[in-house]
Formats: sequence, C-alpha cells, structure tokens
Amino acid sequence: MLDILERQKQFFLSDQTKSYEFRKKQLLLLKDAIKSYEQDLIKALYDDLHKSAIEAFTTEIGFVYKSIKTAVKNLKKWMRVKKVKTPFFMIGSKSYMMYEPLGTVLIIGPYNYPFQLVIEPLIGAIAAGNTVVIKPSEYTAETEKVLVKMFDEYFSDSFIKVVTGDKDVTSQLLDLKFDHIFFTGSTEVGKIVYQKASENLIPVTLELGGKSPTIVLKDANLKLAARRIVFSKFLNAGQTCIAPDYIYVDKSVHDEFVEYLKEEIKNQYPDISTMGHIVNQRHYQRLKGLIKKEKIIFEYEKNENGYFLSPIIMGNVSWDDQVMQEEIFGPILPILEFTDIEKVIALLKTKEKPLALYLFTNNKLKMKEVFNRLSFGNGAINEALMQVANPNLPFGGVGQSGMARYHGVYSFRAFSHLKTFTKKSVFFDVKLAYPPYSKGKEKIIRKILK
Ligand code: NAD
Repeated sequence: MLDILERQKQFFLSDQTKSYEFRKKQLLLLKDAIKSYEQDLIKALYDDLHKSAIEAFTTEIGFVYKSIKTAVKNLKKWMRVKKVKTPFFMIGSKSYMMYEPLGTVLIIGPYNYPFQLVIEPLIGAIAAGNTVVIKPSEYTAETEKVLVKMFDEYFSDSFIKVVTGDKDVTSQLLDLKFDHIFFTGSTEVGKIVYQKASENLIPVTLELGGKSPTIVLKDANLKLAARRIVFSKFLNAGQTCIAPDYIYVDKSVHDEFVEYLKEEIKNQYPDISTMGHIVNQRHYQRLKGLIKKEKIIFEYEKNENGYFLSPIIMGNVSWDDQVMQEEIFGPILPILEFTDIEKVIALLKTKEKPLALYLFTNNKLKMKEVFNRLSFGNGAINEALMQVANPNLPFGGVGQSGMARYHGVYSFRAFSHLKTFTKKSVFFDVKLAYPPYSKGKEKIIRKILK
C-alpha cells in the first residue's frame, strides 16, 4: 500500500496533474471508461443490491455522467486565478486567490450507492488536479470487481488506484499520510476516520448519516406528499442516506395520509420484485429486529426471496421504539403523530442534526418557521431526495451527519487548497510601516488603522 502512495506522490510532484488539459482529458477518459463498462456495472449493481437497470442508470451511472459534464464545462472557470480587492493602506499591491490541488487523496465509499459515491468525489478530485486512491465498500463485491477492472484498464495506478479489502485494509490506508480523506459512511466509522486522520493532521470530508425527519402538516397536498415520500423512501430499498427516516404527521390527517401511502406503494411497485434488496444478512437481520409486529399497519408482501424486505409502515410509533433508536436505512417507515408543531420543533432541536429534513405544507409562514429554526444538512419543501441532483447546491451534513460538502464546484473546492498571494509594485515604495518609527508615522498609522 505504501508503494502505491509513494508512486502517486511522485507522479503528483511531477506537476503533470496540474494543467487544465490533463484534468479535462482525464475527466473525459473517465466518461469513456464508464461508458464501456456500463453494462457490467448494471449487472454488478443488480447482483449486489438487486437494483433495477433503470435505477442503476439514473442514481449511479447517469448521475455521474452529468457531473462529469458539469466539471468539464466549468473547469476553466473554477481554475481561474481570482483577483480580490486590496485595502487602500496596501497601496501598490494587488491580491489574488487560486485553488491548488491537495496532492494524493483517499476516497472511502459505502455500500448503498457503491459506484456513484466513489465516482462523484473522484470527479472533484480529478478536476482539482489530485492523484487518487479509492477504497470501495467490501460489501458490494461485484461492483468492486468492475471498479478494479475499469481503473486498471483505463488509468495508470500512479494516478488512480482502487484498493480492495475489508475494514482492516481501510484501517491500514488510514495510517498513511494522504493529503485529504473523503469518507462516506456511517457516523460511527466517521469518528474512527476523523480520529486517525487527526494523527497526521489530514483534512477530512465526512459524508455521514443519521435519522432524517419528514414533517407533514395538515394543509399539505397529502396525495402528492405520499407519492414523493414513497419514491424517496423505498428507492434502493430504503438504503439511501437522505431517505426520509420517519414521518411526523398531523393527527387530524393521519388516517387519510396513511391510506395514500399504502396506495402509492402499490402504484409505484405493482411488481414488488423490481424493488432493491438489503445488502447482506447482517443488515437484513438488523432491520428485522427493528420491526414491532403489533405496530405494523401495512406490509406489502411476505416474500422471503434473498434479502428482500417488504415495504412496511409502522404506526403509533414513539421514540422509545427500537426503530427510533438508530438510522433505519431500510424499507421500514415509522409514523409518529403530532397535534402541536411547536412541540415537534422543540423535540427535534434536542436530537442530533440530521443530514436531511423534509417538510410538506402549503403554508409559507410554517415553511419559514420550520426551516429557520431547525438545523440540517440539506432539505426540501414538498419534495424529498431530489435536492441532491442539483449540482449548484452543496451537499453535506452538519454536526453528527457530517462535515464539509461537495457536488459541482464544491467538489472541486473540497479537493483544493485555496492559496492566496499579493503582488506589489516595484516602481514606488511607501515606507510608513518600516522602522525607524516616529511620532509622525505613529499618528498616520493610528489614523489608518482605526
Ligand atoms: P460504514 O461506515 O459501515 O462503511 C463505510 C466504509 O468504511 C467502508 O468502505 C468500510 O470498509 C469502512 N469501514 C467500516 N468499518 C471500518 C472501521 N472500523 N475502520 C475503518 N474503516 C471501516 O457505512 P456503510 O454501512 O457502508 O454505509 C451506510 C452508512 O453510510 C449510513 O449511515 C448512511 O447514512 C451513510 N451514507 C452517507 C452518505 C452521505 O452522502 N452523507 C451517503 C451514503 C451513505
């Protein structure tokens, strides 16, 4: 492992990754590589997570094509040296900022979008001019194999290398002196990454998880809310970091809303075999342990095929239930009722800051109130999940749901150092700041620096 790092550092020091032409060429090459492996990827994602071809294309492959396009289109602009204002007392100087690559970076991915969640940061890392080591999740072995093959075929390992293995391998990588670590995964492992990175003062981006609330007020368009919530919750069998984790619904519309949810699940999954599966036995058993039989108000189908878990709605749920004690990350949707939104806001303020928060209402005042008073990484009003698709919005958590952000230009910045410098005229020199000092000089300095 050390030899890969050394080779990548050598290559980085050659300055070849820094030019606009190199970065653009590599981004386009990445697109070619993905195109040529598209069918293998779709198959691998099906084998790993039972993702349908269309889901695999939209959420993993098409998603990154679009990001490559955005990066290629804007790269020159992102790389441009920017001139900023200089205060009058620095007369004769001009001031500038420029983004420079960090060096050799490590990208660690999770299992739920095992392709997209390593390629999306990679696009930022290439655009910013770095060399990259990728450590995909070991849980999605078929996707991992395609990643290895694709990068071996298309890229030199002194520029991009995929390293495979279990958490011990990740742990060994975390002992190395990378210039940045970009981690996507659980809050629990995020803490280990942060701790290890601190030993070498390595900056980190932590894209973590948590319980993302969804609030449905009584004036919301309930049918539409149900459609959008069902889509975002059951996509990838609920294994999406920004999926609604649980719903708070106004008691007066609870029954009507639950009926719409049931209807929507049947509408969107007339054939439930098209839904994704849980990644492995451990998570399958963990999820089963969260279900309280007496609280099930809807279960689509008992189908014990592989790691398929039926969409389940649980009613009359409270914070004492096991399902509210941890991030669900599966197709189980708990419903909590409320009569006073103030109490919901007050309670959510006492919980960890979530990665996402969704609010369904037509009341502009309530929108403002909830979104101003609650903290979260990214949110949506009358929508869920789709906010992630806008490259103009930075994506990331806050508090326990993560630190720093990426997507679009923010990915480029995540893998760059913002270097600044000033340039001074040699045709004249104001000697005010130089010794020897005098009462007269001090008087002028005091006038300027007040
Ligand atoms: P995980 O934290 O278990 O694993 C992520 C990576 O960390 C894997 O590559 C694994 O090899 C490595 N790892 C696991 N244990 C480790 C250890 N002890 N030491 C060092 N490395 C270790 O996460 P997961 O189960 O793959 O993914 C699910 C989690 O990721 C959820 O919490 C979800 O919310 C979160 N997530 C967040 C985002 C986001 O963008 N914020 C996106 C997807 C998933």
